[in-house]
Amino acid sequence: MNIPANHPRRQSLLIREKIVDGFRNGIVVAQGLIAHGRGEAFDYIIGEVTPPPTYEAITAAAAALIIARKPVISVNGNTVVLAGKEIVKLSSIVEAKIEVNLFHRIPDREVKIRDYLMKCGANNVLGVGDDASAAIPELMSERRRVSPHGILAADVVLVPLEDGDRTEALIKMGKIVIAIDLNPFSRTSRNATITIVDNVVRAIPILIDTVLKLKHRTRGDLEDIIKKYNNKEVLGKVVEYIYSRLREESKLNLFFEKSPNK
Ligand code: ATP
Repeated sequence: MNIPANHPRRQSLLIREKIVDGFRNGIVVAQGLIAHGRGEAFDYIIGEVTPPPTYEAITAAAAALIIARKPVISVNGNTVVLAGKEIVKLSSIVEAKIEVNLFHRIPDREVKIRDYLMKCGANNVLGVGDDASAAIPELMSERRRVSPHGILAADVVLVPLEDGDRTEALIKMGKIVIAIDLNPFSRTSRNATITIVDNVVRAIPILIDTVLKLKHRTRGDLEDIIKKYNNKEVLGKVVEYIYSRLREESKLNLFFEKSPNK
């Protein structure tokens, strides 16, 4: 698709095209298009930039990933087409395993996602076919199926674009769950240990930079960052940020209504 270089929403349209290509290639499901639309709406509201309070969440997430013993990055179709290369880069920096985990699990699709990640440079991708032989207790959806060498054994799980049920189940299993979700009101956002409210496209590169900055800090320092982190407080700050943006917008509209030239 030809998107003019000066189109004001060019970036968002380019991201949308990646999702559409992923759909045509059988990596993204139809439901993934709808989920992306919900994300776009929230991205529009936050101004398509990383909300300032989110940096606090990214710092805590980086600390948790660095000190994790068995970190895993859980991926679905939308995540890989939007940030496949960056996911692979992050996994190599923090020595995390990558695992495919899908709500709509179709054998051909999980293989396509694995192959896509391999093309992005991944050496190994868990959770495909028989490898997803373990189950998350109390979870009924296909998302319950996990690798015994990956998510089941993990202490820290990064879950971009997750559903609320599984986040809750992973927390109950005692894992640290780091979510990336543009919707600060979702059950995922509310239940995760650390919620990064941002577009996965922007969040993962910032997370990589932050890991590189913190990597040489002592374990004590990193544990301190995590101990001091309060997810509810940060989510509250993000909602406050959205509220202040909406307040500014509403003032603008009032101004136009009162304008004598209107
Ligand atoms: P929950 O069960 O947690 O309440 P949900 O039902 O909203 O979540 P899904 O339908 O799986 O969950 O929606 C996916 C979520 O991913 C949405 O909240 C949407 O805002 C978010 N999302 C979509 N695209 C992106 C993106 N590019 N980056 C970050 N988040 C995204």
